[in-house]
Parts: sequence; structure tokens; C-alpha cells
Amino acid sequence: MKLIYFQIKIAWLLLFVCFGLSAEKIIDVVTLDEAKAHYLLEVIKHIDRKTEPEDIVIGLLGKNKSLLKVIQQKISGIRIRQKRVIVSSIPRHSNTKNYYSVVLVTDKKHNDIPAIFNRFGPVLIVVDGRVKKSAQLVSLITRSGQINVDLNRDNLVQRGFEVTNSLLNFAGTKEDLSGQLNEQQSRLKSLIKDVEEKRETVNIISQALLIKNSELDDVKEKLKDKNNALSESLSKFSESEIQLEMLQEQKGLDREIIAVNKIQMSLHEVQLEDKSLELSTKELSLKKLNESIDRNKEVLAQQYTELQKKSVIINEKEQTISGQRMLLVIAIGAILIISFFVYSTLKLSRMQKKANKELSRLNEQLYELATTDSMTQLFNRRHFIESAQRQISQIQRTNVDGAMLMLDIDNFKSVNDTFGHAIGDKAIIKIASILKDNLREYDIVGRVGGEEYAMLLSPCEFDVANKIAKRLIDKVANLEISHQQNSIKLTISIGLTMVKKEDEDIDKALRRADIALYKAKSTGKNKVVSD
Ligand code: GH3
Ligand code: MG
Ligand code: MG
Repeated sequence: MKLIYFQIKIAWLLLFVCFGLSAEKIIDVVTLDEAKAHYLLEVIKHIDRKTEPEDIVIGLLGKNKSLLKVIQQKISGIRIRQKRVIVSSIPRHSNTKNYYSVVLVTDKKHNDIPAIFNRFGPVLIVVDGRVKKSAQLVSLITRSGQINVDLNRDNLVQRGFEVTNSLLNFAGTKEDLSGQLNEQQSRLKSLIKDVEEKRETVNIISQALLIKNSELDDVKEKLKDKNNALSESLSKFSESEIQLEMLQEQKGLDREIIAVNKIQMSLHEVQLEDKSLELSTKELSLKKLNESIDRNKEVLAQQYTELQKKSVIINEKEQTISGQRMLLVIAIGAILIISFFVYSTLKLSRMQKKANKELSRLNEQLYELATTDSMTQLFNRRHFIESAQRQISQIQRTNVDGAMLMLDIDNFKSVNDTFGHAIGDKAIIKIASILKDNLREYDIVGRVGGEEYAMLLSPCEFDVANKIAKRLIDKVANLEISHQQNSIKLTISIGLTMVKKEDEDIDKALRRADIALYKAKSTGKNKVVSD
């Protein structure tokens, strides 16, 4: 297609060269401005810029109002490359970049091409008049009443413009044209080469296609054969399936029969097993029976021999027993004699124990009688003195003081005389129990005279002893003794002396206590006096 298009283009070009419009012919019928406007639009049509904006805006640089007017008339209602065409005079100080597509320089004052590019960007600069060839893009040159379009193709190409051949026909140089033609020819040659290469490839492909087609036919034939074979196999397969089904049905029936037979067999086997088991158990029991009979026979034989042995032993034993009987009688006699002796010994020892007990009891009684006052159950005078003597030894050892108290009932004779001895005895007993109740752990008390008592408090400090003595006086004073219709109250006097390790025996302490008691009696009674 490209080749055909190119050929048409060449033909059109030749036609244009032979019969094309020349600038001179147009100038014959139009004014110069109209001609300039015509060529300007022709130039715009055939010089294309790739980065062109949406509208083609033509700006007139310089004062040429009549040209502006003519261009305005020419562009009304036309479109170039489907774009609107606008024209206006560029204001003096406008430097709007990228707004104008084309700048038409109408006087020499403004034809500084580099300055225009700087001011407006990459515009197509068309100059009305001559400019330096090096800077030139397109120039409209008026010569003897005719307009010629002069352009520098290299500059245009450099600036990114594409120039069509038809423009080169009425503008530009021979070199431009021949260059263009050479380019197109070389492009044509490469195209022809491409086409030939592609044709060869098409030939190769079509040959390969033919081979493949023949192969495909072969394959189809084979496929047909295979299909036929497959359908035959399928029919055979379906027949085999039917036979298989029949066989399977038969197999199922056979299986059922086999299963029934198996069940019967297993039943028979079970029965057989049961019977064989029964038989074996019977055999076993028979065997066991035989064995037990044999064992019993053996046992019986053993027992018989043992029995014989035993009878021999029994005979022997009977002989020994008669001997032993004699021995037994003798032994029993001996045992009886020994037991009599043992019994009598035990009885004797028991009697001795009892007698010993009685003796110790009597001894205790004797000791009590010897040591205790029978009326008051206090120590008697002798035992008190003995016990007090032991306490003094303790005081001497430990060097811890004790206190001796001598107590006497006041005016006791008159009590006896007034109320009788019985109430006097009762008073002696009651006062004794008060003294007993007030004893501490190691203290001792004794009845040392008719209505006289002595107490040894050990160990004891003076203050404590004095306190205890006063408490005893108070308790006796509060005691009321009743007998028959009589009721009396009594007082006691106490002589107190401290017992120290210097006291060699009890008599000294008793004497000091007696002296203190005498002082208490002589100074009013019912009081404690210490030495
Ligand atoms: P004083 O206050 O000075 O001690 O006057 P008293 O009357 O207590 O004097 P005295 O010691 O002379 O009298 C003691 C009396 O105690 C004499 C006796 O009759 C009496 N007596 C002694 N032993 C007993 C006894 O066992 N029973 C009775 N009931 N009285 C006795
Ligand atoms: Mg008295
Ligand atoms: Mg007295």
C-alpha cells in the first residue's frame, strides 16, 4: 500500500512540475497582498509542525494593515489540517511564548530571526522580504511585481518542520527536490526488499502449510481407521460387558451356594468339633479315672504296708506304754507331792506377806503415835523438836534464815473453868487446824504443851514471819467455837524469833521464842512480840 501511495505521489509531483501553478500566473490576476496572503496560507498548508497547538494562530509583526485585512478575508471559514486558522497583529510588547503558530514579519525592522524565536518559541517565521540565508526559514520575495517563495529546507527540518514535496515544487531548490527524491527512492528500495523478504517467507510458510496439510490428511486417514477400530472394539467391549454381567450374576449365585455350603460345613464342623471335644473330654476323664484307680491301688498298697508297719509299731508301743504307765504313776505321785510342797510354800509366803503388811501398818501406827499428837494430828513435842533440828541443819547449810513462832491460847484456864474441858478440847483442835491450813511447803507445826503450839517457818524472812503471825492472830480472833448451848471466842499470843545459822540447836531458838511469848503475855496478850 505504501508503495502504491508513493508512486501516486511521484506521479502527482511530475504533473505538478509540468502543468503546476506558478507564482507568476497568480500574480497576473490578484493584488500583491492577496498573493502574499495566498502564498502564506500555501506555506502553512505544506509546512507542518508536529507539536502544533489546537488552532493555527498567525501573528503579524510590523505595520501592514491591508495585508492583515486580506489574510483575515482569506482565512474566514477555512481549516488547515482540521484546525481553525486565526490571524492578528502582534502587539508591540507582546512576547507570549507558544501562542503563535506562524509569525509573519512584514517589515525589515523586525526581521531578526533568532530574536523572534527567543520571543515567541518555535514558530514558523515567514518574512516579507529578504533575510540572511543562514537564518532564513521562509521568505516571500517581491520581484518586478511578482511573488516568489524562497525557503531554507535544512533550517526548517532542523527546527522540527516537515516540508511537503508539493511546496518544494514551487519553492526551494533543485537539491531539496533531488534529496527528497533520493530519500524516497531509498525508502522505496528498502520497502521492495521488505516485500520480497516477506514474499519469500510467505512462500516458505505456504510450502510448510502444504506439507502440514498432507500430513493432516494422513493423520485424518489414520484417525478414521482408528475410529473404525475403536467402534469395533466398543461393540466387542459391550458384548464382553454383557457376558461379564452374566458371569457376575452366575458368580453371585455360585457365591450364595458356596456361602450356604460354607454355613452347612461350618455347622458340621462345629458339631464335629463338639463331638470330638466330648470324645476327648470322655477320653480324658477315662484316662483320669484309670490314673486315679492306679493311684488308689498304689495308695491302698502303701496304706496296707503302712498298716502292717503301724501294727508292728503299735505292738512295740503297747509294750513301751505299759512301761511308761508305771513311770507315769510314779511321776504323778511325784508331781502331787511337789505341788503340795509348792502350795504350802505359797500359802506360807502369802501369810508372811500379810503378816509383814500388818507389821508395817502397826509400825506406821506406832510411828504416828510416837510422832503425832492424837488430839490435833500435829507433830508432838518430841517429833517437832527432832524435825526442827533437821531444819536448823538445813539453815546452817544454806545460810538462809527461818523463823520460830511460839503460840499460847490466852486465858485458857478460865475457859476450862467456865465452860468445861470439852469445849476447851474443841478449841485446841480448831486452832490446830487453822495453823495447819496456813503452813507453807517446808514449814512445820507441833503441839508442844497443853494449849501451846510451836511453828518453824523455813526459809522465811522476818517481815513475812511477822505477817504470817499477825494473820494467825486475826484468824483465831475471828473463830467462834460452839459446843452445846455455849459459844466462845478466843485469842492467842505469839512470840517470834529468827532462826539463823549461828543457832547450834533448836532449844536456843525455842527459848528465845518463849521469852518473846512471855513479853506478849505480859504486855496485853493477843499480839505478836519478837525478840
Ligand atoms: P495465860 O493466859 O497466862 O496463859 O493464862 P492461862 O489461863 O492459859 O494459864 P495456864 O497456862 O496456867 O493454864 C493452862 C491451862 O490449860 C491449865 C489446864 O487446865 C489447861 N489445860 C492443859 N491441857 C489441857 C487439855 O488437854 N485440855 C483442857 N481442856 N485443858 C487443858
Ligand atoms: Mg495459856
Ligand atoms: Mg500455857
